[in-house]
Amino acid sequence: MSRLLFALMLSASTALRALPRRALTARRSAMTMKEGATTVVVTGASRGIGAAIAKDLGAQGCNVVVNYAASEGPAQEVVAFIKANGGDAIAVKANMAEIDEVKAMFKQVAAEFDGCDVLVNNAGITKDGLVMRMKPAQWQDVIDINLSGVFYCSQQAFNQMAKKRKGRIINMSSVVGLFGNPGQANYAAAKGGVCGLTMSNAKEFATRGVTVNAVCPGFIGTEMANELGEEMLDKVKSAIPLGRLGQVEEVAGLVRYLALDPSAGYITGHSLTIDGGIAIGSGF
Ligand code: NAP
Repeated sequence: MSRLLFALMLSASTALRALPRRALTARRSAMTMKEGATTVVVTGASRGIGAAIAKDLGAQGCNVVVNYAASEGPAQEVVAFIKANGGDAIAVKANMAEIDEVKAMFKQVAAEFDGCDVLVNNAGITKDGLVMRMKPAQWQDVIDINLSGVFYCSQQAFNQMAKKRKGRIINMSSVVGLFGNPGQANYAAAKGGVCGLTMSNAKEFATRGVTVNAVCPGFIGTEMANELGEEMLDKVKSAIPLGRLGQVEEVAGLVRYLALDPSAGYITGHSLTIDGGIAIGSGF
């Protein structure tokens, strides 16, 4: 990546807000999930990319577990959208940084919906700062949610998928996990760790017919990106070969392919970029 892009991403990233940790309260819907349909767990599905993935998979007729940490209202809106568009869904509150809350969520999935078929590890936060000024808690919170949460969920989901001898796990990484970024040592370490974990889990889980892949988005037009402001966004776009931010629906389309398409059953251990060309650079 060019120096210009790194500088832009640094300025952009320091504007991002961090999210606090929350406690678990399972919230159950009275409805019954569709029998025989693919059951999908999407972490961090109340907003942004996760909400788009949940809606997209719900529209394919999946049973969707819409996980959230704090945004109950938006999570219930995602559930309502899915129910109105061909799928079934429930919202489950659980902090991905807390293993007991993750275990409780998957226990609920097993008890009510015959286990998880597809896991999308999407939940993530940023707590940016230059490495020499980064507080231990700033480092740890990002590692706990963005990396340990993926590990906890993968263990729980694989336990259910192994019994079915099939399953697909999609981990949301970032181009920052591939190339690093000033001001985001914690985020880069977590997202790079997700790519390594993806490859290791792909090797371990293959014997049970479970594939594991990572998706590495560049700049996607979520609330995070909109906080950058118009001027900064114009600069960011000028450094992207395709000249625009990505849309959440585009990331959701890639996840849908990895999650449901028969031909994706032969893809595992891969980290796919979806970034408008950031990875190849904007040229001279
Ligand atoms: P976002 O709009 O900020 O949404 C984050 C989601 O994660 C929310 O649903 C939030 O739930 C949930 N979440 C946060 N902390 C959680 C926790 N402890 N436990 C469970 N859920 C939690 O983020 P986004 O832009 O859609 O990003 C989604 C994923 O894509 C993240 O992993 C991010 O790192 C990655 N990504 C994003 C971009 C981009 O440009 N946007 C680029 C590369 C990678 P609440 O609403 O309940 O807090």
